[in-house]
Amino acid sequence: MGAPIVATVRTTCPYCGVGCGIRATPTADGALIEGDPEHVASRGRLCVKGSALGETLGLEGRLLSAGIRENGQLRSTTWEEALDKVASGFASIIAEHGPDAVAMYVSGQLLTEDYYVANKFMKGYVGSANIDTNSRLCMSSAVAGHKRAFGEDLVPGCYEDFEEADLVVLVGANMAWCHPTLFQRIAKAKEARPAMRIVAIDPRRTATCELADLHLPLKAGTDVWLFNGLLSYLARTGAADDEFVAAHTNSLEAALLEADRCDSIEFVARTCGVDPLQLVEFYEMFAATTKVVTAFSQGVNQSSSGTDKVNSIINCHLLTGRIGKPGMGPFSLTGQPNAMGGREVGGLANMLASHLELEQPLHREAVRGFWDAPRIADKPGLKAVDLFRAIEEGKVKAVWIMATNPVVSLPDADQVKRALQRCELVVVSDMSGDTDTATLGHVLLPALGWGEKDGTVTNSERCISRQRGFLPAPGEARSDWQAICQVAQRMGFQGFDYAGVHQIFDEHARLSGWRNEAGALPRAFRIDGLAGMDRPAYDALAPLQWPVAPAGAGTPRLFADGRFAHADGKARFIPTAPRAPIHAPSSEFPLALNTGRLRDQWHTMTRTGKSPRLAGHAPEPFVDLHPHDALLSGVREGELARVSSRWGAIVARVAHSGGIARGAAFVPIHWNGQTASDARVGAVVNPVVDPVSGEPEFKHTPVRVEPFGVAWHGFILSREELDLERIANWTRVRGAGFLRYELGGRDALSPERARELLGAAEDADWIEVEDRAEGMLRCALLVDGRLQACLFLSRRPDLPARTWLGGLFAQDELSSRDRATLLAGRAPLLGADPGPIVCSCFGVGRNTICKAIADHGLRDAAGVTACVRAGGNCGSCLPEIRQMLAAR
Ligand code: SF4
Repeated sequence: MGAPIVATVRTTCPYCGVGCGIRATPTADGALIEGDPEHVASRGRLCVKGSALGETLGLEGRLLSAGIRENGQLRSTTWEEALDKVASGFASIIAEHGPDAVAMYVSGQLLTEDYYVANKFMKGYVGSANIDTNSRLCMSSAVAGHKRAFGEDLVPGCYEDFEEADLVVLVGANMAWCHPTLFQRIAKAKEARPAMRIVAIDPRRTATCELADLHLPLKAGTDVWLFNGLLSYLARTGAADDEFVAAHTNSLEAALLEADRCDSIEFVARTCGVDPLQLVEFYEMFAATTKVVTAFSQGVNQSSSGTDKVNSIINCHLLTGRIGKPGMGPFSLTGQPNAMGGREVGGLANMLASHLELEQPLHREAVRGFWDAPRIADKPGLKAVDLFRAIEEGKVKAVWIMATNPVVSLPDADQVKRALQRCELVVVSDMSGDTDTATLGHVLLPALGWGEKDGTVTNSERCISRQRGFLPAPGEARSDWQAICQVAQRMGFQGFDYAGVHQIFDEHARLSGWRNEAGALPRAFRIDGLAGMDRPAYDALAPLQWPVAPAGAGTPRLFADGRFAHADGKARFIPTAPRAPIHAPSSEFPLALNTGRLRDQWHTMTRTGKSPRLAGHAPEPFVDLHPHDALLSGVREGELARVSSRWGAIVARVAHSGGIARGAAFVPIHWNGQTASDARVGAVVNPVVDPVSGEPEFKHTPVRVEPFGVAWHGFILSREELDLERIANWTRVRGAGFLRYELGGRDALSPERARELLGAAEDADWIEVEDRAEGMLRCALLVDGRLQACLFLSRRPDLPARTWLGGLFAQDELSSRDRATLLAGRAPLLGADPGPIVCSCFGVGRNTICKAIADHGLRDAAGVTACVRAGGNCGSCLPEIRQMLAAR
């Protein structure tokens, strides 16, 4: 790491909704990244993804200038020409077909200021609400549930509630991997107060379950039965807070009428597929504990009944009055860094800015008046899945996609690809020019990335934090808000001449106070206490939770006074009628596919994929199956399998984590068209959505798994990117100084063909060994004594470990001993293979940890950390270490 070139900057992590504070110090070759001990959300903690941010700042793959694609050919151009093309394209389509013929599809990765301007542009000036966001895919069910219960999209509590609770219930939330630093706070609290109880409710036994006192492995999609059963149980056993219910809620009778259909423990246990005794244990624990936090995430939201699941959870907190007080409440864990900021500015197609309602004429007029806009959208726009259908049908003819990769991330992703291929005008604003989506763009606009951007984000606990740029803009990259304003100005729209991002924030803050009083349009979201900040004040803004009072103080908890945001000030119980997922497994597609995140990757890997450290934990896409289902499907652990549904197919390696139930399958979401030949799992996912929220059913797609036959397995480590088009299946991750390709081939690969593949000239320094009878080929290419590439191929997937070979790429010249043993795949005197990486911070493998446990008789994670360092930094791997300890 080089010497610092400017002072340390305090900013916020761009990945998950925890929103950890970061101290970033630019250096000559990147940036030094540390946790910010003063940030209220994280107090100095970072998980491995946040810690590795410094490795993702390089410019490889960056889009550095605007581009226009004509007749399939992309040419670099000026911003001026690109902006003219966007503005004239949008204007002419609007003139001919009306405002609903254009759309934007934006992202929870945007900063609040970018999001605010995009919504103002579309809803107030274009006059269409056809602007939706990838946050539709992760938390729109929580938004809808909050609005139904509380009258506004409000998260009641704060992170401290997790530490103060006596019972933390985690529903459909693998926090250990997806919200790691918050999970570590819970782990520390439990360590300090062992009486604290954790219940994990999840069809999979995830890393999170290692901390849990009780794991309820419910059948996917049965959450509403489980929480209706709990509501009924709480009412029957006298756990209701009658005073709170009478004074502060409505509609309990209707909700109980529905819930009482689940008044039999046996019925609920059978329906949910859980042990009746464990179900009673959970119900009793919930009933007997006052300080309960129930946190939920994608396992609840991403469902065709996601909104009802959310309300069935909230109902239980309303009945017991456990809301608005320290250590209790329902808590929505957001996936993305700024899903919440997007909600504040009306980022979803059915919302207006500042928690005002699109369907309400008075609200619309208030926002139009504040903006002095020429028009205002008068009906909800198309939600994500419907938007891309409308594009394919030709109803929407221009779309501007910003900071997201829908060709990978949306369900029925091949449909999204077809839609963009047919669309008249596709504009893509992104950091990368080669994503699956960007390659279909007609106009590419180079965007700033984290480290260069400037603005605010809001995390899961309503905490607004500054993201501050600490690196210069590369090439011609610009802020997204600038691109939108420049297009708006070209279209003749007033109101987009901001002198800086602080002015956008100021407008957003003032709008939150606009007509926000009793008798007018009162709402809980308000940050007008932050209005009027000049640039230095905005730059100095410290993290704080909204609502922000006029005096500038934040608010950790809502509803402390029992007042909710419905007109009568009361919360509403919502009757939630359970319903099964729309597409059930069948004889043709017998398994229910669940998709989700991995510990060390983020979304479609466009950023985390740059970090070698993050690649070690799960270097290949996999399909996790119960061994019994693998047997029935004719596939074996370690071999390749095809996973197909009615909508599409992928290829992944079969794995048995031990945490998956019979009848289910799990595939991670991260691989894309650049990192694998055939692993965009979005193509397999069904496009069914929740009828209220429009959130897709990512957790339940009927699939079939069958062998993906190959003649050989292999891998290549190479300094250069390779063209593997003719290989049946490949995946790629980045190592330190090399790219690692895992291969499955059908056509024989001769030494000659291997030379061609690795780019070895006739007179190259080339070593090879082949055993045709065994179907084995190993070869390596050296340039000036330095390892350039190596290939290992076998009829079986039992290939040498990649760790030692990967380490050879750090050498400027191979030693004669390394050269002599290169094709053995390991040095003769080397200790045991460290195995797959468990601790990414210190690069400690599974075999090393197992050996330390056995050799030293280690009994707890602290002992493992003391012995081999694993788990001693961010703690993300501690659940896995505990699993290994338990297994031994
Ligand atoms: Fe970033 Fe990790 Fe913190 Fe999430 S938990 S905000 S990914 S450092």
